Amino acid sequence: MEKHRRTVVSRSPRVQLAIMAAAFTAAVALLACFPPERYTFYPSCPLHELLGLQCPGCGLTRALADLMAGRMREAAGHNALAVALMPAVVGFALMQSYSVLRWNRWREVRVGPGWVAVAYAAVAVFGLGRNLGHGFWIGR
Ligand SMILES: [Zn+2]
Repeated sequence: MEKHRRTVVSRSPRVQLAIMAAAFTAAVALLACFPPERYTFYPSCPLHELLGLQCPGCGLTRALADLMAGRMREAAGHNALAVALMPAVVGFALMQSYSVLRWNRWREVRVGPGWVAVAYAAVAVFGLGRNLGHGFWIGR
């Protein structure tokens, strides 16, 4: 039986957090230096390319670029769900970062099946709503 090999990354949550912080910083720099509105090398959505429909993730890259530049209205126009979820994502990241920096461990998070169902339903409603027509929904 092969012995399980641990990598440097798997050993320390602080190393994992540092790698994620570096990746996040690189992503922020990429979006700031090469705005998705002006550069076309960002991947496009296959659903939108094939069917002309917008999935719940369409506009996410443009929304993130707008959020990082402080353009809330433009971000909501690209993906309102991303803007709505951003406070929770930032709060979660700060909570985990604090836990890792203070105790060198990730905080365990348990999400009940009811909340998972609510999240799926919210994403589905958003995905359907943004394709239903003019003026019905925010988010192009
Ligand atoms: Zn899409």
